[in-house]
Amino acid sequence: MAAPRAEVVIDLDHLRHNVAHLDALAADAETMAVVKADGYGHGAVEVARAALEAGATWLGSCSLAEALHLREHGLTAPVLAWLDPPGTDYAPGVARGVDLSASSVRQLAEISAAATRAGRTARVHLKVDTGLSRNGCPPADWPELVERAARTPNVEVHAVWSHLAVADEIGHPATDAQAERFDDAYREARAAGLDPRRHLANSAAVLTRPDLHFDLVRPGIAVYGLNPVPVPADLRPVMTFRSVVALTKRVPAGEAVSYGLTWTSKSDTTLALVTAGYADGVPRALSNRVHVWLNGRRHPVVGRVCMDQVVVDCGDHPVAEGDEVVLFGTGAHGEPTAREWADTAGTIDYEIVTGMYRPRVVRTYR
Ligand code: PLP
Repeated sequence: MAAPRAEVVIDLDHLRHNVAHLDALAADAETMAVVKADGYGHGAVEVARAALEAGATWLGSCSLAEALHLREHGLTAPVLAWLDPPGTDYAPGVARGVDLSASSVRQLAEISAAATRAGRTARVHLKVDTGLSRNGCPPADWPELVERAARTPNVEVHAVWSHLAVADEIGHPATDAQAERFDDAYREARAAGLDPRRHLANSAAVLTRPDLHFDLVRPGIAVYGLNPVPVPADLRPVMTFRSVVALTKRVPAGEAVSYGLTWTSKSDTTLALVTAGYADGVPRALSNRVHVWLNGRRHPVVGRVCMDQVVVDCGDHPVAEGDEVVLFGTGAHGEPTAREWADTAGTIDYEIVTGMYRPRVVRTYR
């Protein structure tokens, strides 16, 4: 059978290893594997199952639809959904035992109304904005939110929570400032008669701030084996992106390549056409700037990245049509990594791997 033209291979053993490692680092806390954005491009359902096998007890989604997708695939573990627009019907979430985040009195009222429709109590996590200035209740409105939550009969407050802005910059004073505001918010919740759990830590804080682990940690990127902080951690990248050589050709010196003719061969060389382009997740910003792994060595991508293909300069090295090409992988053998792509393209590896969430790239698990 022909190899897929573009394929991501997901190593679930690596994922289980990462989750077990993170869970051990935060031994006194439960672990929520964040599987939003289709498991950061790795496949939410498969990732969720593997993460739960490896010790995670919670799943984290962005939208309610993502959480319900997990339920539809038989995942019964606690799952938190944290960001949906006003007017969202939360009743199916309440009915299926999805925990919901509330950042405002308005949102709390919507969840309570949904609980009434579903004929069940909704479990909520009250989110406080401690300094990221994104989702979350501003501290000034927090006392009203916790008071209302304490007085709303069909809403059970399970936790107070927040999200960190610069946990990946070790020693940044803003993280301590956020931790202080988080503590204030927790004390205000208790003063309102609530007895919530607490969660704050993303991957970076799991790895570097044990004092912020509280009752539950929420690693995302580290689950996928990508380390957001410059400290060593026993993480194994989970995704390998591979493609195939569709065509080879020997060209003389002076041959220009791809749209815009931005690269010209300096000597006789062999060019390999690889069937992955920007529609498959290769950023066009990597044109003339990245290598692929082919037959045990790195070869440069030459000329512009096209929608469906890139051209690789193989020099005088052997290459044959049908050869496997690794675009990025674990780095263990010398192949490029998602981090390397991100650094070159001026982005973060989160964007590279979530960018692989696209229908025409085959996803394979092993
Ligand atoms: N918690 C929340 C609310 C998030 O939005 C995210 C991801 O953006 C995470 C946790 C996980 O963050 P990270 O992938 O940096 O571990």
